[in-house]
Amino acid sequence: MAIIRCEILGSLEKRSSSILLNAVCGFHYFTFPSKVGSTLPYAWVGNSGKQCPQVCAYPFAVPGYMGGGGPGSLKPPNGDVGIDGMISVIGHELAELASNPLVNAWYAASDPIAPTEIGDLCEGLYGSGGGGGYIGNVMKDGSGQTFNMHGVNGRKFLVQWIWSPVLKACAGPNALD
Ligand SMILES: [Zn+2]
Repeated sequence: MAIIRCEILGSLEKRSSSILLNAVCGFHYFTFPSKVGSTLPYAWVGNSGKQCPQVCAYPFAVPGYMGGGGPGSLKPPNGDVGIDGMISVIGHELAELASNPLVNAWYAASDPIAPTEIGDLCEGLYGSGGGGGYIGNVMKDGSGQTFNMHGVNGRKFLVQWIWSPVLKACAGPNALD
């Protein structure tokens, strides 16, 4: 589950009263036998380009407070902030669905109802050395598009890391150690 508090500033006149929303980039749950006849784990992923892109399409869109002085947003590997953002959210939810399909296997943090899961523990991490707002070491192609894994037909993707219970650390593609 990735329920993230997303701050969306209103117009200049309303800037003093910023609107706080609970933006959901994606979530996973399961169907109820009493409703549909079976228990089927499922995941939902929203359009990262339309809802809260600075959270759901991070690091291809970055929050305003990170714009000045920071590295700014990265070039998405397929040239689409929304779709490239969704790919990472899909990976996040698939990993959590596989490791906690009925949302009763385990949880980190303190809330079993909104459990912190293996994707949540590594949000914002995409490579070795990341942390504290730095996404970690990622690859760049000739046109500056960033990625950490290769797909078929020359496709490239940038996906967030997930928690490894074996390594007891966040882990993922393009790890340097
Ligand atoms: Zn999650």
